[in-house]
Amino acid sequence: MRAQRDPQEDAVVQAVTIDAPWALVERFSSLVRDSGGKAEGKAIDYIVRQLSRWGVPHTLHEPELLISLPKRARLEVLTPEKRTLTSKTPSMSLSTDGRWQRGPLTYIPTGHAGGIMAIFEGVGELQADVTGQVVLTEGYPSPGKVADLQDRGARAAVFISPGERIHEGICTSIWGSPDLDSIRRKPRIPVLAVNKTEGTWLRDLAKAGPVKVHYSTKLDEGWRKIPVLLAEIRGTEEAEKFVLLHGHIDSWHEGVGDNATGDATLLEVARVLWRHRDRLRRSVRIAWWSGHSHGRYAGSTWFADTYALDLDENCILHINCDSPGCRWATVFEDVFWMSEAEGIAKDVIRDVAGQNASGGRPLRAGDKSFSNIGVSTFYMLTSTMKKDLAKEKGYYPVGGCGANIAWHTEDDTLEIADREHLLRDIRVYAAGTLRAANSPVYPLDFRATAGEFVRTLERYQEAAGDAIDLKPVIDEARALEDDLARFYDSARASATRAVSDPDVRRINEKQRRLAMVLVPINYTRAGRFRHDPAIDVPPLPDLEPATKIAALAQDSEAYRITRTHLARGRNRVLAALREARRIIEDAQA
Ligand SMILES: [Zn+2]
Repeated sequence: MRAQRDPQEDAVVQAVTIDAPWALVERFSSLVRDSGGKAEGKAIDYIVRQLSRWGVPHTLHEPELLISLPKRARLEVLTPEKRTLTSKTPSMSLSTDGRWQRGPLTYIPTGHAGGIMAIFEGVGELQADVTGQVVLTEGYPSPGKVADLQDRGARAAVFISPGERIHEGICTSIWGSPDLDSIRRKPRIPVLAVNKTEGTWLRDLAKAGPVKVHYSTKLDEGWRKIPVLLAEIRGTEEAEKFVLLHGHIDSWHEGVGDNATGDATLLEVARVLWRHRDRLRRSVRIAWWSGHSHGRYAGSTWFADTYALDLDENCILHINCDSPGCRWATVFEDVFWMSEAEGIAKDVIRDVAGQNASGGRPLRAGDKSFSNIGVSTFYMLTSTMKKDLAKEKGYYPVGGCGANIAWHTEDDTLEIADREHLLRDIRVYAAGTLRAANSPVYPLDFRATAGEFVRTLERYQEAAGDAIDLKPVIDEARALEDDLARFYDSARASATRAVSDPDVRRINEKQRRLAMVLVPINYTRAGRFRHDPAIDVPPLPDLEPATKIAALAQDSEAYRITRTHLARGRNRVLAALREARRIIEDAQA
C-alpha cells in the first residue's frame, strides 16, 4: 500500500532545523571514533546529553563484541631494489604483531570496482595458483577478494587503492561477532593496501621480473565493550509496533561525511519526533551503533541477536542512515529499497526534496543486519553527487560520503559536510520515519516483491535452459502476485481507518508475516536467526546458480552438484511462496 501523506508531516518536517545537527557535526569533526575508544565515548556522551536535555527516553547498552583496530602496516621491497612504501592494513586481517614476514610478489589483475555495486564483489574465476605468493592486486580489500586469494593459497595480499589516499576498510566476511559457523571464515592472511602511485610502480616492477618484499602489520583485535545507544519515542496508539531508524557512530578518522552527518540526522529526527510525540501513532526507535567499521556491523548485529523476537514480531521496517548531507550531493541515485518499500522510499524523496530517486536492491552491506529475521528496509546512502561531476573531477566509486573520495580517509573532514544538503536530507528521514510509523496500513507492497520474483525466476529459467524446471516456482510466484492484488485491493478500504482498527491490525499482521517469509528467501541463505556473510547476495540466492549451470558439461561433477543445489533451493523458494499464499488466505490472522 502507498503510505498516506500524514496530516502531521508538514509540521514535523518544518520543525527540522540545522542548528542542533550542525553543532554535532562540528563537535564530531575533532573526534576520531574508533569502536569502543575514548573519542567515541565522548561522541556518545554528546548525544546522551542532548537527549537528556530534551527529555527523550534512551538507553545506553555496552555489549562486549569482537573489534579489530588497525594500528600499523609496513611494506618494503627487498629485491630488485630497496624501497619503503606507505601502507595501511584493513580491520580484521591477520596481524603479524609487528613481525616481518617475507615472500615473492606476484601481480594478479582483479580490476577496480566499476561502480558502487561492484565494491563488494570477489575476484571471480581466478585460475592462477598463488600458493606461497604475496599477491598484488587492485581495488579495495573486499571480503570476497581476500577470501578468494586466501583460498588459492596466497601468503598475503597487497591491494592497490584507486586513489592517492589509501582507503581504510574491513576485510572479513563474518557479519557481526563470529559464532561457531562463521568463525571458520575469519581471514587468516595479512592484508595491506598501498596508494595508486606506489601501487602502480610496484605492479610494473612485478611485471618486469621477480620481486621480493617483506611486510608487517599490527592490529589491536579483541572482545571489547562498545556503545549501542537507543532512543525510543513511544507511539500513542500501538506502542509495541515500531520503526527502527539507525546509523553508525564509529568512524574512520574524523568521519564527518561518514557518518557524523548521519548521527546528526538521527539526533534531529529524535528531537522533532519527541516534540511531536502526541502525534506519533506507533513507536520509533533510533539507534546509534558502534562496531560498524571495526567489527563488521557488530553493534547492529548484536541488537538483532538480543532483540530478535521483538524485531520479528513488532518491527514494521527499518531505515538506515549513512553519509547524508555531503558536499555536492545534489541528486538521489543508487538509493536502496526492497521492492515492497520502493513506493514509500521514492515518494518521500519526491515530496520532501522534489526529486525523482533512482536505485533499487540493497547490497549486503551497511547495518542491514535484519534481513535474516525478515524485516523490510529502505535507504542507506541517499543523496550523492551527479555522475558527470564525479567524472569531471576524476573520481572513482566509493562507498559513502556522497561520492566524495574523502570517504574512509584522513580527508573526511568538516569540508565534506554541507549545511543545506544536510537540512534537506534530515527532512527526508524525518518524513520517511513519520510516514512509516503513522500509516494505518504499513507502507509496504509485496505485489512488487512477487513481481520481482517472477522476473528473477524467468531470467534464471532462461539461463538454465532445461537443466532445471522452474515453472512450478514461476506459477506459484504469479499466483502469489494475483492473491496479493486482491489482498491490497480490499485493504484499500481500510487505508484511512484508525491504526487500532481490527481490520487494519489484521492487514498489518499479514504484512509482517509476509516479510518474515519473503525477505529471507530474497536476501539470505542462512537461517532466520543467523547472519549471512558480508558478500553480496543475488536475488533469490538459492536459485541463482541456474545462471551458471548451462555452461557446465552435463556429465561433470560441477553440473551434478549444481543441479542438486538447485533442487534444494527450489524447495525452499516454493515452500516460502506457498506459505505466503496461506498467510493471505488465513481468515484468522
Ligand atoms: Zn558509513
